[in-house]
Amino acid sequence: MINLQGKRALVFGVASEDSIAWAIAQKLAQAGATVTLGYQKRFLSRLMQLVKDKPWIESWVECDVTVEEDVKKFFATVKGRYDVLVHAIAFAPATALQKPIIFTTAEDFATALNVSSYSLIRLTHYAMSVLNKGSSVLTLTYLGGERVVPGYRVMGTAKAALENLVRELAAVVGPAGHRINAISAGPIRTLAASGVPGFDSILDWMAHSAPLKRNVTQEDVAKAALFLLSDLASGVTGEILHVDAGYHAVGVPPDLDKIVVPKAQAAPNPPMP
Ligand code: NAP
Repeated sequence: MINLQGKRALVFGVASEDSIAWAIAQKLAQAGATVTLGYQKRFLSRLMQLVKDKPWIESWVECDVTVEEDVKKFFATVKGRYDVLVHAIAFAPATALQKPIIFTTAEDFATALNVSSYSLIRLTHYAMSVLNKGSSVLTLTYLGGERVVPGYRVMGTAKAALENLVRELAAVVGPAGHRINAISAGPIRTLAASGVPGFDSILDWMAHSAPLKRNVTQEDVAKAALFLLSDLASGVTGEILHVDAGYHAVGVPPDLDKIVVPKAQAAPNPPMP
């Protein structure tokens, strides 16, 4: 049993009851921690419903992670010291998700990487002043950061950058006693996931091909998060832990012979902008 009694957590990325961050916050609370949420204003009414009658929620503070002043204000507002920081934030403009990567504009590319990758640097930087020695930072990534996943497009590059930042930041904050890790979660139906074209097919394919023959749930991710955020993972940092029913380990699905694969044909060059 993991005991986080007396520990305090900062959790960014709760937008709805389906959010992975919400499952992690609840898991931390079950282990005895208290939680402060950093939220974006867009879904305030939904957030208010979630935090109602939750004595383990200390406070909720508005914070757009792309706005330096907001982040500074957030860390000036939260009082005392913390043991855990959860970064569960991602965004890419629909214009970038709906077209092949070759059409991505510099502006959309910058937005996706600013929100989804750079924000980890920004939050970690400011959090250093409030995190206790031995603290643990966790971010969320996806297989699209390692391999091509159709429809994930610019988010794949954003996640690749995020994963490298986990290693870079681990090396920087480690000497002061802080750890930083990521969970590479399998696909889960959430608000952010609904923006990925073909997401339902990805869910079906994963459940078909993953060694555990199912998709993962928010609960699966939250349990692994609790481990990484607790003292049980005291020697783990700079790590990307796959919580994806084992899909990352599979090269070819076991029943390939039963799947009809059309003969490969040379694809025409895509039209240039
Ligand atoms: P979610 O519930 O939609 O959470 C995404 C969060 O990012 C939302 O709370 C969103 O707030 C927040 N956000 C976006 N831009 C922000 C900004 N500028 N400032 C502050 N917050 C901002 O979806 P989720 O699936 O749980 O995503 C959490 C993390 O898990 C993401 O990093 C995602 O890439 C990762 N992940 C998800 C899956 C999946 O299949 N669902 C798989 C692997 C990894 P608003 O909604 O208010 O904008």
